[in-house]
Order: sequence, then structure tokens, then C-alpha cells
Amino acid sequence: MSEKKTKYIFVTGGVLSSLGKGITAASIGTLLKHTGQRVGVLKLDPYINVDPGTMSPLEHGEVFVTKDGAETDLDLGHYERFLDTSLTQNNNFTTGLVYKTVIENERKGKYLGKTIQVVPHIVNEIKERIVRAGEGKDILIVELGGTTGDIEGLPFLETIRQMKHELGKSQVMNVHVTLLPYIKAAGELKTKPTQHSVQELRRIGIAPHMLVLRAEVPVPNEIKRKIAYSCDVDEESVIVAEDAPTIYQVPLNFLRQDILTPICKQLELKDCQPKMDEWTDLVHKIIMPSNEVKIAFVGKYLDLKESYKSLTEALIHAGAHLDSRVNIKWVDSEKVEEEGAAKFLNDCDGILVAGGFGERGVEGKIQAIQYAREEKIPFLGICLGMQLSMIEFARNVLGLKDANSVEFDPDTPNPIIYLIDEFIDSAGAKQIRTTTSPMGGTLRLGEYECETKEGSNLRAAYGSAVIYERHRHRYEANPKYREAFEANGMDITGESHGLIEAVEVVDHPWFLGVQFHPEFTSRLQNANPAILAFVKASMEHKK
Ligand code: GLN
Repeated sequence: MSEKKTKYIFVTGGVLSSLGKGITAASIGTLLKHTGQRVGVLKLDPYINVDPGTMSPLEHGEVFVTKDGAETDLDLGHYERFLDTSLTQNNNFTTGLVYKTVIENERKGKYLGKTIQVVPHIVNEIKERIVRAGEGKDILIVELGGTTGDIEGLPFLETIRQMKHELGKSQVMNVHVTLLPYIKAAGELKTKPTQHSVQELRRIGIAPHMLVLRAEVPVPNEIKRKIAYSCDVDEESVIVAEDAPTIYQVPLNFLRQDILTPICKQLELKDCQPKMDEWTDLVHKIIMPSNEVKIAFVGKYLDLKESYKSLTEALIHAGAHLDSRVNIKWVDSEKVEEEGAAKFLNDCDGILVAGGFGERGVEGKIQAIQYAREEKIPFLGICLGMQLSMIEFARNVLGLKDANSVEFDPDTPNPIIYLIDEFIDSAGAKQIRTTTSPMGGTLRLGEYECETKEGSNLRAAYGSAVIYERHRHRYEANPKYREAFEANGMDITGESHGLIEAVEVVDHPWFLGVQFHPEFTSRLQNANPAILAFVKASMEHKK
């Protein structure tokens, strides 16, 4: 371990969930990073699932996949996008995982016959994992999921309390994010829920050093003073997080309130002047761009757009770099199935078919792809989107009318997309996959290298012969059909150790299907090359 001890900023939430705690934590991290600190992040999830991998996207928003193949909470995506860094499975853990480890250790006899209890065993396991996540960092931002007062959160709060006690004052800072509700009838912002939430934290033994108040309307100074007084924090440590036109503006809003002054005071940090010029410029282009472009987003879970969070954010990043607003037209693939593609897609500059699982809406997506291919509209297919673009081509160009994926028709005579029964994973280990494998843990997950073909859209986008992108899928393109595809105008332009990673329609202005998920590596300051190239092609198509 480095001699310089890691400092910790714990971010908890009060009153209710969905307050933007993750954005608050990411924003504080971003500002500190731009002062030159090495910033790490950790998300603690108090639920019992071992990881979010098997949760429905309707349940928990998007499953974010890290470079090392962990299926994590979507907040980790925000952290990568804000901090422009790649996180690993050590940056997120759940109560379920903590208990699993402790119970496994107990079975191995590691606790020497002791009675296993929440304090100390569970708390110590949490603590060890926090310390491990902070290794090699100057500052670790730790976000605790859920709301203060939840039964599940208690062991985590106890850990935070103990760490402050053990590490000392200048090593730990507690930030509490709460809501200031505005009561219309009274025309008043109410401070009582915040006071109660802080009281609850104090009861557990945690005194917040900073309060971040979410409010829909501007917060007058006298309210800030009242909260500072009643909650016993310094007035300069009461920060308002008002609604922002883009999440990327939040760090700048915090900076305007001098948030780093109390943070640097508490943690005894020296340089507190972040360099935010590039960031400010990108935010300006998100809010007031010179151009705009309309992309059709053809998908299934459209009522829960959170499940495509990384992708919609990646489109924003690309737009910021191209000085263009990216307007998304949400197109329900089941509607396309019923009413045809043209009705929904004829006014769009680009067509995007994203990843997905299960059969619902698949035929509509295939129709949208056919429309993009025939009408020569820029197209990007991601994961299932690539698989369906091959099925569409097989059916309508190669004339294999029954072409399908074994995911949707296990007995198809033309399995364009099939299940390989073994493959070598990113850690070099052999993985076995069969139709009867359990749901969790059998996907091809995480980062794999991909060789790009010279002269392809893919190569042009990345400017590199070898690229690295992340995966989350079970099925693969079947190499048996490769020659037929290439002889008829669909090129294989990306490959990973013999697996097909990218396809392109040759006679088309811009058509790319990728087996990987480019959206997972897109950051505000480093937009993903494939998505950037797609938005650019769509802007050219518009002209
Ligand atoms: N359902 C497909 C598979 O498992 C695609 C998955 C995805 O789009 N993420 O291969």
C-alpha cells in the first residue's frame, strides 16, 4: 500500500430515493479529480442479490458491465462517464455478496468457532472491501445506496461510523443528500424532512459534515442558514443541488457554490482549484448546440428508458463533441411490427437498434433494420441489434427465409445466431455454456479485444487495428454463413479470436452492427468512437 493514506468521502441519502445521490457523488469526484487528486469510487448496495446481473431492467434500471466483466449497478456507469475511468468489480458490492463471503468463510472454519454476528463479522467484511477499493487512491468516494433509516443499510452505516472513529477526523467526510420539498399551497420549502433524516443519522452515530439539498426551486440563504443551524453543519457546507438542464452541469453548479472549500478544509487537502475548462465547453455544447440530428431508437423496454442509460448518455457525449443536439425518437418495436417501419422511421437521420433479450418485438426490429439497409439510412446495431441485422440480411438478401437465432427458434434450420458450447473468457479460463446453464454467470461478459478490418467503418471510427470493448450476451454469430454473407455484400469487419464481432453492409453510406456494447466505454470527455461515427454519419445524412 502507498504511504499516503486514502481519505474517504461517504455519501448517504435521506428522505427518499432517486435524489441523484450518484450524480452528487460523481460530481464531487469529478471536481476533485480535476484538482489532480487520484479519485476512486465505490457503490454499496444494501440489497440481498449477490449482484444485479439477474435483475430485470424494469426492476433496477440498466445492468452496467465493467471491463472485468462484473454486472453492476447503473450508478457505476455514471462514475465512469464523469471520472473518465474504468472501474472493476471491486467498485461495487451488495449485502448479498458480503453475507456470501462471510458464510463461506464460516464454512471453511475461518472464524475459529466463534458466533458469527453482524458486528463485528459483517461490518469487518464491509470495511475490508471498502479499504481494498481505496488502495492506491488519494480519495475514495463511497456511495451508500438506499435511504437512511432502511433496515438493510444499518450494517453499512455502522461501518462508516467505525471508520471515522478508527481513521480520525481529517481522513473521513460524511456528505448527506436530502430533499427540500416545496409545498405549493404554503409557497414554502420545508426543512423538517432534512432535520429528521440528520437526526436519524446522528442516532446511528454519524454526524454529517456537509448537506446537499435537492430542491425544485431556488433556495434562499435564510433557509440554508436555518438548516446549517438546526443540523449543526457550517453554513458553507450547505450546498444546493437544483435541477440542472444536464447532469454534467452539476459539478459546475457545485463549483459555483465553492463546494471544494469545506471539503478541502475537512480533508486537509492543499490544491483546491479544479481545471474545468474542457468540461465547461462540453456542457455548453450540450445545452446550446449549433446543430441537431434525429435518431430513431428502436427498442422494447421503452417505458423504462433507464434501462438504456449508458446508450442515451453516449449519444449525448457524441453530440457534445459534434456540437449537435441528438434528439431521440423512441420507437416501440412492437408498433413497427404492427404498422410497418416507414411510418415511424421516415423522418429520422439515423436508426439505432440496441441490445436486448427475449423474443418480444424482435420482428419489428428486423423490419426497422431492413428499412435502414434499403433506404440507405445510417444504422448502428448493438449486440442483439447486430445479430438481427445478420438475420435480416440472411432472410432478405441470401434468401434464407427461416433464418433465425436459436434464442428465438431453437430448431431453426438456419441458425445464423447460435450457441457455442465453450469459449475462453477474458481471464483466459474456459467457460462452458449450454442451453441448460443457469441464467447468471453464463454470458460472455466484459472486455475482449477485437481486430478491425482495414477500410471498414469500424476501423475508420477507431483509427486502430485492435480495439477493446465490453460484452454481455449469450449467443454468437455462426461462422458457417460467413462466406455467403461476404459474397453477397455483408462484410465481417471485426473479429475476436475467431468470433464475429462486427458486420457492415458494403453498398450503404454507413451501416455497422457490433456484437459488443460500445456505450459502456463512452465518457463525456471521451465519446465512444463507434457511436460518435454513427451520429456523424447521421448528421451527414441529414444534409
Ligand atoms: N440476446 C442476445 C444474446 O444473448 C443479445 C444480448 C444483448 O443484446 N445484450 O446473445
